[in-house]
Amino acid sequence: MPFPVSDSLFARAKELIPGGVNSPVRAFRSVGGAPFFVKAARGATLVTADDRELIDFVCTWGPAIHGHNHPVIKAAIAAALENGTSFGTPNPYEVEMAELIVRFVPSIQKVRMCNSGTEATMSAIRLARGFTRRDKIIKFSGCYHGHSDSLLIKAGSGALTHGHPDSAGVPASFAQETIVLPYNDRAALDAAFAANPGKIACVILEPYCGNVGFIMPDPGYLAYVREVTRKHDTVLIFDEVMTGFRIAKGGVQERENIVPDLTCLGKIIGGGLPVGAFGGRADIMDMLAPLGPVYQAGTLSGNPLAMAAGIAGLRLLEELNPYPRLDELGRQLRDAVLAACKAKGIPVQVPQCGSMFSIFFTDTPVRDYDTALKSDAKLFARFFRAALDGGVYLAPSAYEAGFLSTAHDGAAIDRACEVLSSAIQDL
Ligand SMILES: *Cc1c(COP(=O)(O)O)cnc(C)c1O
Repeated sequence: MPFPVSDSLFARAKELIPGGVNSPVRAFRSVGGAPFFVKAARGATLVTADDRELIDFVCTWGPAIHGHNHPVIKAAIAAALENGTSFGTPNPYEVEMAELIVRFVPSIQKVRMCNSGTEATMSAIRLARGFTRRDKIIKFSGCYHGHSDSLLIKAGSGALTHGHPDSAGVPASFAQETIVLPYNDRAALDAAFAANPGKIACVILEPYCGNVGFIMPDPGYLAYVREVTRKHDTVLIFDEVMTGFRIAKGGVQERENIVPDLTCLGKIIGGGLPVGAFGGRADIMDMLAPLGPVYQAGTLSGNPLAMAAGIAGLRLLEELNPYPRLDELGRQLRDAVLAACKAKGIPVQVPQCGSMFSIFFTDTPVRDYDTALKSDAKLFARFFRAALDGGVYLAPSAYEAGFLSTAHDGAAIDRACEVLSSAIQDL
């Protein structure tokens, strides 16, 4: 399927922007071909620079749970815009945002706003180190927590897609403070604590992984991580940048009934504008400047436009409770893919929970980084292109989750099921 306008934009972009993109996975490298450019997005639909309409299952990589350009969010941004774009002082929106987050997310007593998920995880880790006066951190292979130095080690998302789970430019001395373990492996966690007594500041994880494809924990695993971290006075950080407000109003921690010490948020809380946040136990959060010795700041943090957009989005979630319906639609999509693969004799795993899903072409159940990498990425690339030709946009990588929004109505899902089924039929 040709995208001539996009191709010429991409040629110009490549002269000016490294790889032609401002975030690597957008370059389509792992699925082949050039990316399409989007000039507008509404509801569940992207409109490309070439005037093609695509049903979008990327949803701007998670934030667009209400679909694109939702009228209520748009109106909230417009209303805030009347009063100015940035004040550099406290503003009323921040207080309202904090109240909503504290009300929605069970473990959060106090919260600090920042500008991206990367800032949220970077700051939460610094805070955990300052609070515990320890240096080492534990992360899990395939979990992606943004692009700060100590977290780009065996990372997921674009880092994994492009074969750089360990980034160049991260000093070995920094990397030494990061212990990387396999997800879903209790014995590995025990061994890491036994080998580093009194040294581990925090354990950070995506409670449901979404950056190595979508992977759910084994039953009891998250509770075990909670128990072990509590025993060692180690701060447990749930990175819910992707899952927050998506898996449930209060994130995975609400659905699984686990109370982490700190939680990182982003994506949905910005309503489509750039926002991140981290929050949790008041005694830990009060270690932050200006109250405590852990420094963290941001010129545009708590930005009124971003807060207004986010507040409108969160209020809509409360009003609509879209989660049961999103899960129904997610299952419909999963079942269609499973049935088409079965008919064609293609081994597949389709983990799905609510509005998140992944399609792994493998006969091995996917429960960590290693098993995710066993899936057939070449077959995925062909499937991706066939789906795109049919007007369905999946994430351009075998290791990214798919997302639904409340704008994906029954008709959009029916259509997507048809397109995906025939794409599988033709593989
Ligand atoms: C997207 C994501 C991040 C990084 O957020 P940015 O806003 O892209 O910096 C961190 N953690 C998780 C789990 C994410 O999905």
